[in-house]
Amino acid sequence: MGNREKESTPRLVDNTADLRRAVADARAAGKTIGLVPTMGALHEGHLSLVRASRAECDLTVVTIFVNPTQFGPHEDLEKYPRTLENDLRLLAGEGADLAFAPPREALYPAGFSTYVDPPDVALTLEGKCRPGHFRGVTTIVLKLFNLAQAHVAYFGQKDYQQARVIDRMVHDLDVPIIIRVCPIVRESDGLAMSSRNRYMNPAERDKALALWRCLTAARDLVASGQRDAATVATGMRAVLQEREVTRIDYAALADPDTLQPVTTIEGPTMALVAAHVGKTRLIDNLRLEP
Ligand code: AMP
Repeated sequence: MGNREKESTPRLVDNTADLRRAVADARAAGKTIGLVPTMGALHEGHLSLVRASRAECDLTVVTIFVNPTQFGPHEDLEKYPRTLENDLRLLAGEGADLAFAPPREALYPAGFSTYVDPPDVALTLEGKCRPGHFRGVTTIVLKLFNLAQAHVAYFGQKDYQQARVIDRMVHDLDVPIIIRVCPIVRESDGLAMSSRNRYMNPAERDKALALWRCLTAARDLVASGQRDAATVATGMRAVLQEREVTRIDYAALADPDTLQPVTTIEGPTMALVAAHVGKTRLIDNLRLEP
């Protein structure tokens, strides 16, 4: 069992050469590799991905890197929480084998200038609100796939569009890796776990629940027979506004594959929301099955 026992600290690697060597050794020994890309400030959502990898793969590699290219110029790159010591402690508790936490220059050395042009599914929703975001995501994720040489990579449904973008990229660019998308882990009241939740004070934390409430309202409307997407979206907005969440980036119904807007809810449909609570931008989503 060795490194599969819980409470053994994962090996910490901060450079690409050591990562390449570790995964090459694992592959040579016939091990399967699972990759969990994160930006750190780990919580139960991240740990659920680690567990999924541990259940399926022999070696679990968790990357911790606050990727500058996916942040807009006025976003929270500088203040994004960095909690490496605690992250390593949590990963030890889950039996992760290797933590790759490189400095920025290790992945973006001087002269770096090649980017992945994201697929069409990146054009709506988050892609519209955060220009350049998915270009940063596809670029870093492809780099991590190339470095980690994993058989399987684990992502959360929390970032639903991101998972669709990566799935499409892997398909379009023939990247030999399996993408698994794991369910959203929520607090007991329904708030989706997020590293950004720690930005909020108690009053904001209270308000933030409006996102989950607006998604469940959409689910209830559809369950009661409502099929008009505009009506459901209006209902979602009303719930947000009632709870004084007024800076809404979108509250939308979209096709689960393309993320294009739907007008009539005929089959499985994604309800997606992005809104600001105080200075914190939050996203959430729920799959609706009419
Ligand atoms: P992040 O560190 O926010 O970039 O997230 C790293 C990975 O964890 C992404 O695949 C996220 O979708 C996933 N993730 C974040 N929050 C959750 C959550 N509450 N439940 C499940 N997965 C999550």
